[in-house]
Amino acid sequence: MAAYRYLIVGGGMTADAAAHGIRELDRDGTIGLVSAESDPPYNRPPLTKGLWKGEALESIWRKTGDAAIDLHLGRRVTTLDLPSRTVVDDRGDQHSYEKLLLATGAVPRRLPFGGDSVIYYRGLADYRRVRQVVDRGGTVVVIGGGFIGSEIAAGLAMNGCKVTMLFPEDGIGARIFPADLAKFLVGYYRDQGVAAKPGEQVAEIKGAGTGAVVSTKSGLTFNADAVIAGVGVIPDTDIAKVAGLAVEDGIIVDEHLRTSMPDVYAAGDVARFMSPQLGRRMRVEHEDNALTMGRAAGRAMAGDTAAYEHLPFFYSDLFDLGYEAVGETDSRLEMVADWKTPFREGVVYYLGGGRVRGVLLWGIFGKVDAARALIAAGGALDAASVKGRIQA
Ligand code: NAP
Repeated sequence: MAAYRYLIVGGGMTADAAAHGIRELDRDGTIGLVSAESDPPYNRPPLTKGLWKGEALESIWRKTGDAAIDLHLGRRVTTLDLPSRTVVDDRGDQHSYEKLLLATGAVPRRLPFGGDSVIYYRGLADYRRVRQVVDRGGTVVVIGGGFIGSEIAAGLAMNGCKVTMLFPEDGIGARIFPADLAKFLVGYYRDQGVAAKPGEQVAEIKGAGTGAVVSTKSGLTFNADAVIAGVGVIPDTDIAKVAGLAVEDGIIVDEHLRTSMPDVYAAGDVARFMSPQLGRRMRVEHEDNALTMGRAAGRAMAGDTAAYEHLPFFYSDLFDLGYEAVGETDSRLEMVADWKTPFREGVVYYLGGGRVRGVLLWGIFGKVDAARALIAAGGALDAASVKGRIQA
């Protein structure tokens, strides 16, 4: 059995940030990391962005080894035994800890058909699989109009790939964008060569040789060399639940990123934390959250007593359009759009309870802190008074 002062379960960006966070305060304590992925931690955003724009594959590694850490890769933790402070992996090996971090992330939601012919685009292995298809000049069907669907469809089209995009909503990114912006994006994607098909639900996927045939409920059929799905993710809470930790769409953590059990912490996609700015618990599945909360959890495990109060931002690139956003950007909230140039440059404010809850900075960069301040300020703001609060 390997015994560690700090043990990290998970091998994503959160895990890497935590290892480096620990090392900021504790240079000598032993750190072990157990990850189901066979690759060491790497930057995930390039999988749908930079790697399709010429960024070198070698640039994605996070150099976790620099934190003097034992990496146990290609192993999934199956059991957490709190009384003995031990985890067991799927090879039957035990790893004990004094402080444990659960950075297990989220697993893709799966469609009820298609089996392994569908690529649930989540990790480097998926990128490698898709890259082979693209390099052979293959055709791809992308299912889902959320983050992964919109980014990978753009990335593939920019590499000369014939892409069909199927999604149930009327627009691209409809969960976060105002309806007119989401619909604009459908036309924009078509102009860039993507066959974007709103209002289409997949009914069946059948394997055909090395490719697949995708049928929709409306009766359309598409042949593809690869089918990629980005239909949402589910926080990976299995071992936490069985061990008896408080779980509610994610592992509940306090302001020091501690779970309901002593010396067990959680961070990243899997952690549901309290946002003091928004006055509610939230779970965030984006890079800034992974990096900032991961580092904070590592530091907390090594003795830092600072509370975690970060309101994470996120960003995306869609061909030559891009944005940054912060807070609750849910299109079910009241939205006030303040365009300088429609759909090219402007601010969308998300209002709820008489205050700003989220801000989308479309084509505007370097204003995230101003948006955070506006959200944190609370105060009474309505559709008329919020316009112009952040200038393009
Ligand atoms: P997502 O952004 O939640 O989008 C899921 C999409 O799939 C939605 O459009 C959803 O439509 C649709 N969908 C759900 N069930 C479907 C079905 N049966 N058939 C067809 N479409 C269906 O999730 P994602 O794109 O899979 O991304 C996964 C995670 O990676 C997210 O947590 C995301 O935040 C993260 N990510 C972030 C970034 C970034 O920060 N830039 C980039 C990539 C990935 P409904 O709304 O109708 O359910």
